[in-house]
Amino acid sequence: MHVENDIKLGFKDVMIRPKRSTLKSRSQVSLERTFTFLNSKKTWTGVPIIAANMDTVGTFAAALVLAEFRMLTAVHKHYSVEQWQDFLHDIDPAVLPHIMVSSGTSDADLNKLRAILALHSGLEFLCIDVANGYSEHFVTFLRRVRAEYADLTIVAGNVVTGEMTEELLLSGADIVKAGIGPGSVCTTRVKTGVGYPQVSAVIECSDAAHGLNGHVISDGGCTCPGDVSKAFGAGADFVMLGGLLAGHDESGGDLVEQDGRQYRLFYGMSSDTAMDKYHGGVANYRASEGKTVKIPYRGPLAVTMLDIQGGVRSTCTYVGAAALRELSKRTTFIRVQEQENRLFN
Ligand code: 5GP
Repeated sequence: MHVENDIKLGFKDVMIRPKRSTLKSRSQVSLERTFTFLNSKKTWTGVPIIAANMDTVGTFAAALVLAEFRMLTAVHKHYSVEQWQDFLHDIDPAVLPHIMVSSGTSDADLNKLRAILALHSGLEFLCIDVANGYSEHFVTFLRRVRAEYADLTIVAGNVVTGEMTEELLLSGADIVKAGIGPGSVCTTRVKTGVGYPQVSAVIECSDAAHGLNGHVISDGGCTCPGDVSKAFGAGADFVMLGGLLAGHDESGGDLVEQDGRQYRLFYGMSSDTAMDKYHGGVANYRASEGKTVKIPYRGPLAVTMLDIQGGVRSTCTYVGAAALRELSKRTTFIRVQEQENRLFN
């Protein structure tokens, strides 16, 4: 039996050490980054925060708000081609570079993807993800899509180790999505015992990706703006958020009222709730690996985005990074056994 003895770290295990800085104000910090992607050769500029492709988060309504912040939305895969057509009908072309189309990995998914991509030539990004990005079927699908769409920027995942990051990039991905099990409504670690603490996953995957000129998304596990900064500090080029963006006006999930307070349902994409909704129940060979929660209604998404943006900008000033691009170079993590003071929580 082989046991790896290196300690693997999650967001709760580290903090970022402050460094001398000449920056006067967080308003001086630019959060925009420009990337040229490995396989598509496309160049993109924007703020590299992505709304997750969950039907409660990656909605068309959220996409319009995030595009105003120059951020991205991985629009979930459950919209029909007709819904996409309506959405794209009179869309501001400036929104398109901030949208990712998502797809599953079946033949039916591929046909639907073809129909969506045929609607508008301005769609630049595709997100193909499965819970287990290590599967051969997944890699074969990725290769098929790349063979068909040479200049599409393709996100593929999810994985947590360097060697599989390399394999996905060499199989046609531009951006590898890293994260197995850290999600707020994910139960993979409990159901299967499989996972990888997120900070270490991002450090290891981004090290491998950057060696090949590929890029990495840290996906899942951010509970506050500070975690978003830690993900960037660990080397993530992009950070994907689910739970932090759920429960807003623009989110999906039923609104429910209880004791005079409003809540929105939020659930994992492989929870019983999602499987009942899209597949008529949980197939009996698999366990549901997501949970359903009720979160207090949070108002407009724009307010939360300002808060996240403000937090990351502030991190940059603490370490003297004038631009987000410099954050990981200027990050030194310290291992800790405490985070915030919870006296008033
Ligand atoms: P969060 O930001 O909420 O911590 O994590 C969001 C991520 O959780 C998503 O982008 C996705 O990778 C993951 N996720 C979403 N639904 C499920 C699910 O039902 N099961 C698992 N294992 N992960 C999920």
